[in-house]
Amino acid sequence: MASDPRAKGAEDLQFEKCLGRGYFGEVWQAQTKSDRKAVAVKKVRLQLILENQLLDQLKREINILYSLQHPRIVRLFFHFEDKYFVYLGMEFCIGGSLFDKLQKSEKFSCQRAANYFLQTCEALDYLHHLPDKVIHRDIKPENILLDANDSAKLADFGWANLLEQDKRRTFCGTLDYLAPEMIRGTGHDESVDMWTMGVLLYEMLTGQSPFGSQSKETTCKRIVHVDLLFPSEMDQDGRDLIAKLCRKNPAERLKVREAMAHEFIARSGDSFAGDSAAARGGYPPGPEKGITAAGDEDLPRPSVVARKLRSECEKLGGEKEHLMQAIQNMEDQIQKQKDLLRDAEAQDCIMLHVYKVYVL
Ligand code: ADP
Ligand code: MG
Repeated sequence: MASDPRAKGAEDLQFEKCLGRGYFGEVWQAQTKSDRKAVAVKKVRLQLILENQLLDQLKREINILYSLQHPRIVRLFFHFEDKYFVYLGMEFCIGGSLFDKLQKSEKFSCQRAANYFLQTCEALDYLHHLPDKVIHRDIKPENILLDANDSAKLADFGWANLLEQDKRRTFCGTLDYLAPEMIRGTGHDESVDMWTMGVLLYEMLTGQSPFGSQSKETTCKRIVHVDLLFPSEMDQDGRDLIAKLCRKNPAERLKVREAMAHEFIARSGDSFAGDSAAARGGYPPGPEKGITAAGDEDLPRPSVVARKLRSECEKLGGEKEHLMQAIQNMEDQIQKQKDLLRDAEAQDCIMLHVYKVYVL
């Protein structure tokens, strides 16, 4: 069996291309110099971790990552740190992210969406049934990667935990995937992942973000009211599965194995009869209200791409805020040094005066 890629320091790696940037750092495509194996390396800014007292939490997350061994979960091969970064060497997924695919094809056929959904559920089935249950908390197309066979692998673990700890960042970033109980802060369990699976399926089938809007307030309102709108041409079984996942009461949501056994997924084993609503008898015209009406404007929901752009803007905003804070800290430091210098000069003057009066 081929051995896993290894690296003990940045000098053992050839960094080739930046694949993405996140709040905590960057992800690079790289190669191990010793045996030329492709890896994805996440560089986490150490300063940010230290500033927010997250080092212990990060170490715990890394240990959990090593213990996760499943074909639907991106493996962690090695980690090391230098003065500036913690480096996480991960399995490289050549197919890119589900988000990239969704952006290219706008939305997926039922067959394709059901396949990705089922594959992601396989990862969750493993995580939710571990002796020490793991909740992913950040399922979205950007965090589902594809291998050479176009099979899904769940990535970006633990960051949601870290972000939750990092109070400075509360509610910075996209809200669109948050479950109602996370907005209300009433505590949560693994059923948050099933809510986000409902949001994911909606995005895959429509190319739109189900609770997205221009303002955070409206998005929050739509989420807590479960204000779901289904486009008229949307597959009936698909709607049913989404509605059974996006339930306000976490206890009423389908569990992962129940979702895997749902008719929409069972059908994906067969052919999806042309994969169009028309081919399956058609559906009522016009947008159809979901579970509850929030009394809000029934505008079409923003595209998944608009949702990502909004989140990128938030990330940049966060970085700007961080830089502004750093500048402020530097200015405070400079001011302190100036004050010290002035005090020292004053002391010198006094000493000189004393010297002149008493010695000369
Ligand atoms: P963050 O959420 O902090 O930005 P992610 O781990 O989600 O970081 O990675 C950002 C992007 O980098 C992903 O959307 C994907 O495009 C790319 N990426 C991350 N990990 C891998 C990997 N293992 N293989 C291939 N691409 C990756
Ligand atoms: Mg991510």
